[in-house]
Amino acid sequence: MKAAVLEAVKKIVIRNNVPPPAIGPRDVLVRARACGICGTDVHIWEGDFFPTFPLIPGHELAGEVALVGREVEGLRPGDRVMVDPTLTCDECHFCRINRQNHCLKWNAVGVTRDGGFGELVRVPAKNCYRFERVSFGEAAFCEPLACVVFGQDRARIDIGSEVLVLGAGPIGQLHLQASRANGAAAVTVVDLVEAKLDLAREHGAAFTVVADNALPEKLRKIAPYGFDVVIDATGVARVFGDAIQYVKNGGRYLVFGVCGPHDKVEVSPFEIYRRDLEIIGSFAIRRTYDRAFRLMERGAVDVKKLLSEAIPVEELPRGLEMMKKGTAPMKLQVVF
Ligand SMILES: [Zn+2]
Ligand SMILES: [Zn+2]
Repeated sequence: MKAAVLEAVKKIVIRNNVPPPAIGPRDVLVRARACGICGTDVHIWEGDFFPTFPLIPGHELAGEVALVGREVEGLRPGDRVMVDPTLTCDECHFCRINRQNHCLKWNAVGVTRDGGFGELVRVPAKNCYRFERVSFGEAAFCEPLACVVFGQDRARIDIGSEVLVLGAGPIGQLHLQASRANGAAAVTVVDLVEAKLDLAREHGAAFTVVADNALPEKLRKIAPYGFDVVIDATGVARVFGDAIQYVKNGGRYLVFGVCGPHDKVEVSPFEIYRRDLEIIGSFAIRRTYDRAFRLMERGAVDVKKLLSEAIPVEELPRGLEMMKKGTAPMKLQVVF
């Protein structure tokens, strides 16, 4: 089969003769149709984390069942499935306290073992969600949406909240839609790029603001006391230090965009203490894929306009470069 193999840091080789993976009795073999390129892939590619070489990356996967293991029930070849990449042991301390995303044996398809930038992918049957109503490209959005649903749970958006989303890329656009579904009274979205803000307005942003030197002032006009919840969907470390000021006293700041593991910023512990702030993290998916699947299948979240380019796997290195430079207009996906 054809696959993009990460053989070392920043070394992706397109191979046409990779043997298809063998599957166990409870696995299925999924023929990849669409697989999103994510900021995490850039980090993996650059060796920041999860460096297990050789690796076929790609964790935002939708495809068709090609083969099922002998103990698999309820799935047949030809079924269209979205894939929750999360693999947990269900036995360790963190699994036992329902924090499966911190499983001591945490693994993920396309992160620590081969994923969707190869034509055929081995996946446990229990990680597959059969779908009918959306395209493969839309279905591949269910994985980032499941991360967003977990982030929204962590940020606890109360009905009537004022929410600020920093960054209007695909993740920011999903947080915008999810915040509205959670009952935010108004969502304000900030980005450097006008076109992304236009799209945010189409997705129901009450206010959009171009990030420039006048940003603090512009945001103060919208929310004089600050925002109940600020969601950082930029992955730019400096934003964290700059944007804590936009949280209302007693409010919450969700660190969602993925920064580099060695990035540092300066924050004032006094400010966190004095203003009752909550700084909240959110890693990957914690049993939220099921709800993301429902949001997707029922059309409560619309991802059609978040797809900017479908590329063949040969162009994965170009896609990763675009992601790194921030020049991708919206989500890039590898299609087979
Ligand atoms: Zn991702
Ligand atoms: Zn575990």
